[in-house]
Amino acid sequence: MNMDHFPDNPYLLLTPGPLSTTKSVKGAMLRDWCTWDDDYNRIVQQIRNELVSLATVDPGYTAVLMQGSGTFGVEAAITTAVPRDGKLLVIANGAYGHRMVKIARRAEIPVSVYECGETEAPDADHLVDMLKEDPRITHVGVVHCETTTGMLNPISVIGEMVKSFDKVYIVDAMSSFGGIRMDMGEIRADYLISSANKCIQGVPGFSFVVARENELIKTRDRARSLSLDLYDQWETMENHQGKWRFTSPTHVVRAFSQALEELRAEGGIDARSRRYYRNNRLLVGGMRELGFRPLLTDTLQSPIITAFHSPRDPDYEFKQFYDQLKEKGFVIYPGKVTDLDTFRIGNIGNVYPSDVTRLLEAVKSSMYWKNPVDISRDRHCPVSSRQHERYLTQTPSF
Ligand SMILES: *Cc1c(COP(=O)(O)O)cnc(C)c1O
Repeated sequence: MNMDHFPDNPYLLLTPGPLSTTKSVKGAMLRDWCTWDDDYNRIVQQIRNELVSLATVDPGYTAVLMQGSGTFGVEAAITTAVPRDGKLLVIANGAYGHRMVKIARRAEIPVSVYECGETEAPDADHLVDMLKEDPRITHVGVVHCETTTGMLNPISVIGEMVKSFDKVYIVDAMSSFGGIRMDMGEIRADYLISSANKCIQGVPGFSFVVARENELIKTRDRARSLSLDLYDQWETMENHQGKWRFTSPTHVVRAFSQALEELRAEGGIDARSRRYYRNNRLLVGGMRELGFRPLLTDTLQSPIITAFHSPRDPDYEFKQFYDQLKEKGFVIYPGKVTDLDTFRIGNIGNVYPSDVTRLLEAVKSSMYWKNPVDISRDRHCPVSSRQHERYLTQTPSF
């Protein structure tokens, strides 16, 4: 499809989603689909199959698509998976971990929280203690890439522990799935949640849950809500070959299918991950040269999004910095950490190292405040993606 007559986006989104998508992804939305039509349902089934194969090489998994943003998927998974006599433990080190807690509380699901602090990784021994002390816990939830800070949680290590206590494991891999290689079998996850507008590089409109079928099949009649009943949604999609229970976001689904094709063309998740890592290293290196300091130590940092300390200068104001960058073609993201003043720059989406180089130029010429950025306490130790992988899969200390 020739999209040349469509104007380019006036700026690049350097955000955790919605993010910059290709013209061909946007172009795929330029036709209407009937939801009960076989052609459409075939696309849905292909998407479901492809999501499962991106999530694991093991058999026994299935995918459910759910209308709404990512949170709808997390809410559907939690409020369908946990039974009336169950209890959820959430490992939280940011806003999205705390959102899981909020979801549980709203549905009156008993929940306890392991608060690690927003800049710390969870401690294996502490998690083991919590699981030992409270046998009522049936499910454990954690966020993979905590988008609040960009921190990557060691989900394989946590999975080992969760399974050694025989609990059900729910992973919010919203901002990392498709951008970082992972295998649900290895991680030991029973539920893995993501959405259309993150690393698959589609547009917003639905979330998806990849689930271990043996586990999902137990959840009939557990859901606290009709529209977020993951089991019912799955049963309909499964028994009626790709049919959604209620109106489906047809255009978004078509764009997502195109995005999956483009992921394959790029060389799959490994190739995409390498591009994100390159974006991230270039960004962090260049920002350091300009005097900015990343919030996290490099070993905890994901290639997805990076939080930087805001300059200490009293003249600095995020809005003004943001506006200047936007004028130059880049949209960055405000901070979300509770007690620290930060801003965030995303590396995901249709973004390439050459874009990051142009961004760094734009940042340099947008530093309108007088004093240099404070660089004290920067704990710089560059890590390769291989070292990173080792950190994420190392055996726990217990
Ligand atoms: C984006 C995101 C979500 C979902 O947010 P929505 O605004 O509902 O799409 C959930 N968890 C994480 C870690 C995310 O990055």
